[in-house]
Amino acid sequence: MNPGNQVHDIACPHCGETTRTAFDVSGGELQFIDDCQVCCRPIHLRVDIDEQHQTLRLFVDADSDQIY
Ligand SMILES: [Zn+2]
Repeated sequence: MNPGNQVHDIACPHCGETTRTAFDVSGGELQFIDDCQVCCRPIHLRVDIDEQHQTLRLFVDADSDQIY
């Protein structure tokens, strides 16, 4: 198993339900789009890595115009 693999439960910004997302942080900080498993709408996720504390900060947004 890749140690950079992360699985998190997040609250969908569209429907408010909990959906699960998986991503790989071995390459550092990242942004990506994942579809909500409940309402199938795209969720914009941003992952910041705090290397001092070895923690992740996950930011969840409704899809934004900046991506497209
Ligand atoms: Zn949803």
